[in-house]
Amino acid sequence: MHIRALSTLECSKLLTANRVGRLACAKDGQPYIAPFYYAHADNHLYAFSMLGKKIDWMRANPLVSVQVDAHGKGPGWKSVIVTGRYEELSDRIGHEAQRDHAWLVLSKHADWWEPGALKPATFADLEHLPHVFFRISITEVSGREASES
Ligand SMILES: Cc1cc2nc3c(=O)[nH]c(=O)nc-3n(C[C@H](O)[C@H](O)[C@H](O)COP(=O)(O)OP(=O)(O)OC[C@H]3O[C@@H](n4cnc5c(N)ncnc54)[C@H](O)[C@@H]3O)c2cc1C
Repeated sequence: MHIRALSTLECSKLLTANRVGRLACAKDGQPYIAPFYYAHADNHLYAFSMLGKKIDWMRANPLVSVQVDAHGKGPGWKSVIVTGRYEELSDRIGHEAQRDHAWLVLSKHADWWEPGALKPATFADLEHLPHVFFRISITEVSGREASES
């Protein structure tokens, strides 16, 4: 296997071409990781979620990491790791433009809202659970590709 580093542009292309990432956050020295759907645009990963552990933890410590990968030919693969900062797109007056932008970017995919709106609870409960739009502002990105040649 041959391993090479991806350029920043290649990393950006991989982030744009994919939707599923693993979002890692940490609080009090304890890491936590969860899969999530994102949409990549203008150096940010946009996402939607109900309130819960990851939002609580990212509010307490906004420094996060995201990993995204894709299969290559045969046993080949590409992987990108983002270092970034959690930014909540609140519904407060003055933040409408940012939330509208998140909506626009995310809604390019069908059913974009569904995973972020599902919890192990009854539908009656779900209707009343608050949700948030957020984005990960990318501060650093690295990528690697493994191929047979
Ligand atoms: C492909 C895919 C895409 C997804 N996209 C989104 C998305 O866009 N937005 C979104 O909010 N969620 C998405 N999810 C669900 C997400 O992974 C979490 O399950 C969900 O967001 C709840 O996370 P939370 O931190 O709020 O957990 P909480 O509901 O607060 O629960 C916390 C507890 O449940 C456990 N737990 C939570 N989630 C999982 C899990 N996935 N697997 C195992 N244990 C778990 C934790 O270990 C923790 O102890 C997606 C899941 C998958 C597989």
